[in-house]
Amino acid sequence: MRDLSELAASLRLPSEPVRTPMFIDGKDYAGATGEWVSRKSPGHGVPVTATSRASTGDLDTAVAAARRAFDDGRWSRLSGEQRAAVLLKTASLIRENAETLAYLETLESGKPIGQSRGEVTAAAGIWEYAAGLARVVHGDSHDTLGNDMFGLVVRQPVGVVGIITPWNFPFFILSERLPFALAAGCTVVVKPAELTSTTTLKLAALLTEAGLPDGVVNVVTGLGPVIGQALAEHMDVDMISFTGSTPVGRSVLTAAGCNMKKVGLELGGKNPQMVFADADLDDAADAIAFGISFNAGQCCVSGSRLVVHRSVEEELVERVKAVLEKVKVGDPLDASNHVGAIVEARQFDKIRGYIDAGRRDGAQLVCGGTSSNEGDKLFIQPTVFRNVQPGSALAQEEIFGPILAVTPFDTFEQAIQLANGVPFGLAASIWTRDLQGAIKSFREVQAGRIWVNCTITGGPEMPIGGVKQSGIGRETGRYGVEEYTELKSVHIQLGNRPRWIA
Ligand code: NAD
Repeated sequence: MRDLSELAASLRLPSEPVRTPMFIDGKDYAGATGEWVSRKSPGHGVPVTATSRASTGDLDTAVAAARRAFDDGRWSRLSGEQRAAVLLKTASLIRENAETLAYLETLESGKPIGQSRGEVTAAAGIWEYAAGLARVVHGDSHDTLGNDMFGLVVRQPVGVVGIITPWNFPFFILSERLPFALAAGCTVVVKPAELTSTTTLKLAALLTEAGLPDGVVNVVTGLGPVIGQALAEHMDVDMISFTGSTPVGRSVLTAAGCNMKKVGLELGGKNPQMVFADADLDDAADAIAFGISFNAGQCCVSGSRLVVHRSVEEELVERVKAVLEKVKVGDPLDASNHVGAIVEARQFDKIRGYIDAGRRDGAQLVCGGTSSNEGDKLFIQPTVFRNVQPGSALAQEEIFGPILAVTPFDTFEQAIQLANGVPFGLAASIWTRDLQGAIKSFREVQAGRIWVNCTITGGPEMPIGGVKQSGIGRETGRYGVEEYTELKSVHIQLGNRPRWIA
């Protein structure tokens, strides 16, 4: 990556696409098809990177490498201390290469450069945190089974893990999963999203530099329905950790049934910002504006619904609008912009479709609603709709764009009903100064993550994941490493076993 560091420091666009091959068994891997796919920067409309389009044969090669690496114990049999050392070294290499990684992330994803820098350095922190877990993951003992029996619960790595990631936070989301799988002692095949594979490939090379044995982490790039599907179906893969949309998650769950893989799913959301009448409206307004604008709304925990007490609706919406008027949307390499590009034309058209549907369905456009795709540079202004019917597409479906749907409530029961009245259960924010009201609300709201008087914040200590159609299982925290383990119960007879036939 050193060859790219000067270009990254200049923040100029590359004169030709940065080509990065796949990474299998500790080496660059060209792939059987020799097919390269270039990626246009959605913020600049020009090709910036190129990655290989793998065949399923390439995937088999990667899985075989991961299988060998797991079965011979070159990683799983190391001490926690040795595994931790590699994870810590990786974190320091991520920090050393943070500018280049952030630059590549911005080119492919369209997110503002300042945000990419923040995500890469936060990701390094996750690797550091997970290194600690490599030394504390452990089982249990039972000395209460009677005089003649002793019980052990042994916690072992699950085996070969397939990790499939989305395009919205390519490096950060990978870092919420991969170091935990490695801390547990697993080996891994990663299938990054086809639009944003480069930083994952660069990370694989850093892992080898950090001392990770060959074959422990392998990266295969290619199409989701081909390579992702084959990974989910693979008979030699023991677990699949999938992060992406709910419909694809459903098909991954079915595919994983072939050999009863363990499955972790982190899926979509339609997350409410619940604002009660006594809330600090300035605080809430700033967070609500941030919650739909962050990553141009292409964020699984985006606060895409505002469920607000009718008595403060008018005032709060005006304050949100005032904040959004100051938000700068544009070139993601210009550090002064708050919001970058929409990831690709298909996503741009989908978001535009929801803006049109909102207008058609009689919702009231408060601000935004404009967009530009001139020169294949894809930008959408953060948009707020009021009078959104709870059953409408705007209120029910994950748009994955900077669109806020506002619906008022009159009673606490209505607020909870609105918050829970969607198929998803990923995250929710609650705004109130009343401690008891906050506790009553977070007890009732169906979501894996709740923020009280804050939004979209956290650290690797806390588990993440969803309920309902937002997923299965948890990532990060102590729970994150445990997801990548299996429990084995061991009964140890002390003295002779009582005879069956005397
Ligand atoms: P996506 O479901 O289209 O793709 C995700 C990944 O799955 C990509 O790598 C893709 O190539 C792969 N894929 C596609 N078809 C596949 C198949 N049939 N079998 C296996 N893999 C396949 O999602 P996306 O558009 O990349 O990302 C956006 C979605 O991800 C949103 O719904 C968002 O809410 C969700 N997401 C969830 C979380 C979370 O933590 N809950 C985090 C980020 C994104």
